[in-house]
Amino acid sequence: MLKKLENKIFPFRFHCTRCGACCTHMLMGVPLFHTDIQDISGILKTNKGDFINRYCDLIVHKIPNNQNTLRVHAFYLKLFDSRCIFYENNGCAVNDVKPYLCKTAPFISLLFQDSTVIDNFKKRCKGFGHGPYYNKKTIKFMLKQEAKLEKAEWELFNNGFYDNLMKKAL
Ligand code: SF4
Ligand code: SF4
Repeated sequence: MLKKLENKIFPFRFHCTRCGACCTHMLMGVPLFHTDIQDISGILKTNKGDFINRYCDLIVHKIPNNQNTLRVHAFYLKLFDSRCIFYENNGCAVNDVKPYLCKTAPFISLLFQDSTVIDNFKKRCKGFGHGPYYNKKTIKFMLKQEAKLEKAEWELFNNGFYDNLMKKAL
């Protein structure tokens, strides 16, 4: 995955101004890692099943796997009118434990997959072109960290972790 992204990675300055544009003009909710579910449900003092029921949408990705199709379940934060469920009073209601991808954006693989995706993000995001300079090496390092987390998610998926989590949410 990272190899495919390498040509699309470019150095740039970035500083998040907390304008909220990326939380309020969303096409899809933020995908969650298991650590996000753990941390956010912890701060909200709710169990994981209730957290999923109240704040998440379940998305099933169909992934070709040899002759079969693998159905991979993933949890995304809910949206209302293109706004994240946690966007309140001009800020993130779970800022201290916001999802990994929110913490690390725009240095996430989703944005680098396709130049039109990052170009569209840049049009809305006031953070580009300001603040510290991020070189390719730093950006690649952050993308590698994300790839490691994704690998861990696959292991959890294969070990039935998400099946158990869904049972708790039913
Ligand atoms: S979790 Fe917080 S930072 Fe992430 S999209 Fe929602 S409101 Fe924005
Ligand atoms: S749009 Fe950019 S500057 Fe505004 S909150 Fe999101 S990342 Fe920060």
